[in-house]
Amino acid sequence: SQSSDPILTVRDLFRQFGGIKAADGVNLEVGRCEIAGLIGPNGSGKSTLFSLVAGTVKPDSGQIRFDGREIAGMNAHRIARLGLARTFQIPAMFDNMTVTENLLAAAAQGHWHGAKDRAAETLSLLKLDQVAQNRASDLSGGQQKLLEFGRVVMRQASLILLDEVTAGVHPNIRKIILDAIARLRERGISFFIIEHDMEMVRNVCDRIIVMDAGRVVTSGAFEDIVRDSEVMQTYLGR
Ligand code: ADP
Ligand code: MG
Repeated sequence: SQSSDPILTVRDLFRQFGGIKAADGVNLEVGRCEIAGLIGPNGSGKSTLFSLVAGTVKPDSGQIRFDGREIAGMNAHRIARLGLARTFQIPAMFDNMTVTENLLAAAAQGHWHGAKDRAAETLSLLKLDQVAQNRASDLSGGQQKLLEFGRVVMRQASLILLDEVTAGVHPNIRKIILDAIARLRERGISFFIIEHDMEMVRNVCDRIIVMDAGRVVTSGAFEDIVRDSEVMQTYLGR
């Protein structure tokens, strides 16, 4: 049955930009209900990998299997409708709409059924109740990060890709995001997270995947990864 398969399997994935091998034969898996972390130096191909998986960048070759379907080369809207959602490093939202309206607009791109109840749950999950009727443009930077995360939650994805979602946010906001990830995973959502904050990686991720120069160099539990001095050299040494 599909249910014991990984939710995401990437095989021999290649993508070049000019002469730069951003994906140079990537192989990895994300298990169902797993929180997998992706780390690696700047320019190692992490964001490109997310774009390849989400369909906004097309692979030169390779396979990407998501929830039992081959999706490599499929367009981004179709992949999103299959239940894959991602955040961007710069939050995407409608500035002139309220927080609640932004959540409902995100639901309209996915599952509309029960959207109002889900918006209320999402406001509470992300502690945005107090600002529910505020315009998105009036939120603090940290609250905008929460709203972007909330918009992804509203899509009812089965796999969520987070690209440095806690970068530069206040520890209080980071804690809200961490708790929300843990709660959503209990409900069966899988996560694949690009993260620079090693505390966050250690606290939230079940398994760490390390990239360098467009390839996966190793993966494993946080403790095993940090014990591997060569990997830490790769990660921290540049
Ligand atoms: P990371 O997210 O790990 O910092 P990226 O995936 O953003 O790395 O980038 C990997 C490499 O691919 C870098 O050398 C980057 O400059 C290059 N790259 C990424 N996207 C593009 C693009 N659209 N056009 C040209 N080069 C790109
Ligand atoms: Mg990046």
